[in-house]
Amino acid sequence: MSTILFNQIIFGPVKSRRLGTSLGVNLSPQFGKLCSFDCLYCECGFNEDGRKDSRIPTIEEVKLALETKLSDYTKNAGKIDTITFSGNGEPTMHPKFADIIDFTLEMRSKYAPEAKVSVLSNGSQIGKQNVADALLKVDNAILKIDSAFEATTILMDRPQYKYSLAKLQENLIPFKGKFVLQTMFLRGEFEGNIIDNTTKEEVDAWRVLAEKVQPREIMIYTIDRDTPAKNLSKVSVAEMRQIAGPLMEKGYKVTISG
Ligand code: SF4
Repeated sequence: MSTILFNQIIFGPVKSRRLGTSLGVNLSPQFGKLCSFDCLYCECGFNEDGRKDSRIPTIEEVKLALETKLSDYTKNAGKIDTITFSGNGEPTMHPKFADIIDFTLEMRSKYAPEAKVSVLSNGSQIGKQNVADALLKVDNAILKIDSAFEATTILMDRPQYKYSLAKLQENLIPFKGKFVLQTMFLRGEFEGNIIDNTTKEEVDAWRVLAEKVQPREIMIYTIDRDTPAKNLSKVSVAEMRQIAGPLMEKGYKVTISG
């Protein structure tokens, strides 16, 4: 696999384009990948390449690893901007996700009260009450919607379940004004299909959707590292500015990472 796996439960801190100094938490297998999507651009590779390890860390292992890292790091005067759940897959798929968030918030208050707690999620589990409640407790629930068209999402993000944008929008109702909408913009081709979520039709529909789901903030970005699908290309920052422009004019806070 040409992409990167995080071989630890806690990794970093790393400098994140979008989140500053970020201490990563990986609730997925340490030498594999576990996700309900299988995005063409996933930095962890395709799901099928990451099946050699399927063991997820126990809640006790996560607790010990997080507390050890946070206490050591902050003892040495390190400053963390955010504790970020990301790693080798979809963090909300961990069966103890809600409990893990609870103790993470406690540890944050104890060791790094200035740090935010962020979760990068594809939103596939937010229909579960305990997952939604946990995401509503963190500072930044960063939820992915890459297209306002199901067909494009299916080509680009390859959900491993029956994806429904209508259902996702319904599940997002409690998140209005509270979540960060995250969208990857790219162009390319995969298995004979053209993928382009930057066309006028795509962008117009994406803006309408963004206004409908009412995020607190929007993060748009493009490919930064090697991707498992080879024929994908970046979108320029100038183009992303144009994409986000009308929303920024309406007062939405938009972060663009190229
Ligand atoms: S949702 Fe995230 S972790 Fe899952 S395949 Fe897509 S980019 Fe990778």
